Amino acid sequence: MNIKHHLDEASLLSYAAGSMSQSMALVAACHLSMCPQCQERAQKSEAIGGVLLDSLAPAALNENSLDQVMAMLDYEPSVDIAVPKRISSKRAGADQTDLPFPLGEYIDGSLDSIAWKRIVPGVYCYDLPCKSERGGVSRLLRIAPGKSMLPHSHDGNELTLILRGSFSDEIGRFTVGDIADLDSEIEHQPLVDSDEDCICLIATDAPLRFSTLLGKIVQPMTGF
Ligand SMILES: [Zn+2]
Repeated sequence: MNIKHHLDEASLLSYAAGSMSQSMALVAACHLSMCPQCQERAQKSEAIGGVLLDSLAPAALNENSLDQVMAMLDYEPSVDIAVPKRISSKRAGADQTDLPFPLGEYIDGSLDSIAWKRIVPGVYCYDLPCKSERGGVSRLLRIAPGKSMLPHSHDGNELTLILRGSFSDEIGRFTVGDIADLDSEIEHQPLVDSDEDCICLIATDAPLRFSTLLGKIVQPMTGF
């Protein structure tokens, strides 16, 4: 796996501090399970400091406080940021490895055993029961080769992890393991450029903002 697109610093921090919505955290956890580079960043980053600070109860300072703090600076905490390994699915088969471990809680079997629901021709979805914020979604999307999503931007953040196939958009090309970590500034139109269907895991924390009339018309049907 040759991962080129990673979680940004703000997302890593928010994941490590436990302040992400459940739907966004699932996508982040799945990327971490596939990406040694982000695992290392998560371990090293100041996020660890944030987690420790958050878990400390306030206490009155004593005379030795400064010395104690200075002593702690040399101490390397062994914080276990949940970094799940890929596991085999319950069902045997050649496809078993493309289900990241954290998704195994929601999918029984493999990506091929999902009961997809058709949104429009060539585009299928499977909604996950994760909690999101302000009307966002948590779902798997399966898009046929050559199909594109309608151009849209976001009122909040969007995390998209590629599990199979690939797509390209204004930012670049995304293949298996890549994560698109987008904020509200970006407008994009992903186009599936693989020979097989592109399957991705998506979480948003607010409804998408479609920039075309067609997008606005179909939005109620797509559930985005
Ligand atoms: Zn990464």
